This record gives sequence, C-alpha cells and structure tokens, in this order.
Amino acid sequence: MIINKAQWAVDWLHLVGNPNPSDTLKLFVHAWEIRESGWADKSPSAFNPLNTEHHMLGSTDYNPAGVQNFLTYQDGLQANRDALYDGNYPTLSYVLKNNLDTMLTGHDPFMMGDLSMWVKGNRADSQYADSIFAVMEKLGATSMTDYLNAESHLLDPARFGFDVNHHLAIVIHKTGGDATPQAVENTFLATGRSVHYVVGQDGTIWQFIPEARGAGGNCCPDDSHQPVWDPIIAACTVNGKVNLNFGTISIEHCDPASDNSTPLTQIQAIQSFRLIHYLMGKYNIDYEHVLPHKSINRTACPGNYPWTGLAQYLYNAAHPKPPVPPVPPVPPAGDLLTLAAKIQSDLNDLVAALQKS
Ligand SMILES: [Zn+2]
Repeated sequence: MIINKAQWAVDWLHLVGNPNPSDTLKLFVHAWEIRESGWADKSPSAFNPLNTEHHMLGSTDYNPAGVQNFLTYQDGLQANRDALYDGNYPTLSYVLKNNLDTMLTGHDPFMMGDLSMWVKGNRADSQYADSIFAVMEKLGATSMTDYLNAESHLLDPARFGFDVNHHLAIVIHKTGGDATPQAVENTFLATGRSVHYVVGQDGTIWQFIPEARGAGGNCCPDDSHQPVWDPIIAACTVNGKVNLNFGTISIEHCDPASDNSTPLTQIQAIQSFRLIHYLMGKYNIDYEHVLPHKSINRTACPGNYPWTGLAQYLYNAAHPKPPVPPVPPVPPAGDLLTLAAKIQSDLNDLVAALQKS
C-alpha cells in the first residue's frame, strides 16, 4: 500500500496534538516509519507505517504478532495516536506534542525506553532508538545540499566518499563523454567514483557528496604533480598513503566529447564560475588553489575548461563596478507639449515687451 511517509508524519503529529511540528520532529517520525516499514513510500500493513498492534473497528491482523491492517488512512493515524496515549509512552508523547527536539535527539533514557517499549514491549532496547537516529541522519543527509543552487543527488555515504575534508583546494574536471548529470551519476554508481558537484550543459548542478566529506575523484598524485600540491599532499597523507580527496572539493563539467573538446555552454560556464566563487569564499581558498585535474597527475582533464573566463569572473566579483547614478525622470510627452507652449508664450511676451521699449 502506497503511503507518503513524510506526509504521514506531519498528519500524525497534527493528530497527536502538535499543530506546528518542528522539522526535527517531522524528520524523526519519517525516520521511525522507515525503520518500521522500509525506505519506499509503502506500508506493508494497510495504512500502518509504524506497525501498531492497536485495534480499530474493522481492523485485521497483518501478522501473527498482531500488527494491524486498517480500513482507512484516518483509521491508521488514529490507531497509532491512541497507541501513543495508552500510558506506555509518557515521555515520547510529551516530546512529540511539544517540539522538545533536544530531548528527542539527546538520548534521553526515558525517551529511549518509550521507543523500546513500542517495538519490544519492554524498556531495555536502546539500540532501537539509535537505529531510528541513524535513519534520521541518512534522511537529513540525502535531502539537503550545501549549495542552494544545486539539486540533491547525494550518494549512499556507506559506499561513496570519505569522512574527512580539509578544504585546501578545488579541483576542476570535465567528464570526457558523460553528457548529462544523470550519465555522471550512472558512471559513479557503476564505478564507485564520485565528485562533490557536476555542472550540466544546461546549467543544472547536482551535488553527490556533502562538502564536509571527501569525494572520490582526486586520489593520487604522480611525479608530474605541480609543486603547489606538496603541502596539501603532506596534509592528506594518512598511514603513509596519500589521498587528495581528504583535502579537496571536486567539480565535474559535462562534456559529451571523449577528448573534452566541447566548449562549456554559456550558462554552464556561469554556473561553474558562481559555484567556484562560492566555495572559495566559504573555505577561504585562493585562486592559486583552484586547480585542473592535470596538475595532480598525467591526464588531459579538464581539456578546454575556460580558465581565462573564470579569472575574469573572479576579478569582476572582487572589483564591483561603482553604482551608475540614477537617470533623472523624463516628464511624460503631454507635459513636454505644455512646457513647449509655455516657453513659446514667454518668448512672445518677451518679444512684445522689447518691441514696446
Ligand atoms: Zn578529471
């Protein structure tokens, strides 16, 4: 049965008695539903994503444990609400009704006991609460981008990227064949590689890895690397192994040509320059540390990336033109005719006065 879990969370919190639930509470209930009945927007038991065993008129057993199937969406909301207020969940119900976010995520023992009660019928299972918090983190991580103009396509953190990033340099790539952000994502899913951002030819930007983490695009310098990398290599060496992903942010640019010879489209270039400008400001990275992939090792990447255009954009951004003074308003045409008539009449008067004297 299809259930929009994010919407169900809001509807249920309203019914629980919270007319204006916090974002954290909504995320928590959504994560709790996922923990109970999976990531898809479905409920295996009818209208019952939290799998309550509380009965309603006409409800039936979904499984031998007594999880119920309900006749309607409203019945499912009501049964889970009634279960919450059956006396076993005093802390949980209070937290959900009153937006007590810090108590929710702060591992409060009464709160964790209540959650354990929901699934086990006893108060001892603290791992259940932790498993909901883990889903919550994943949900939060997969719904938010760092850069507001990017679409979220964040990849599974268990498979992609690294849990460290010192933000010491920005590395520019071109895809050499993948023509769209979707094609880039498909390549990543097939290969396990990744970058933080890709800029499509139509100017759309997809984010794959949170900026706080290292992506998987710029590993290993060879003996051709430029000297600018030496201190970064030192900072990105762990147990004798260098991985520049620990200190770089990487940006791909879609180019359908395998030799990266297609010029960036105008919108693609502007979007790229804006993104780089934002990252430089955010992490205090200077222009010397915005570098082509080929400065790390022997590759032609990023082909014909427009470095002159980037430098010009950054120069203009750092030297804004003085504001243009406002143009005085032009009187409407009707007023001009009146004015002309007045000048004519003044001139006539002047000529008449001169002739008299
Ligand atoms: Zn590259």
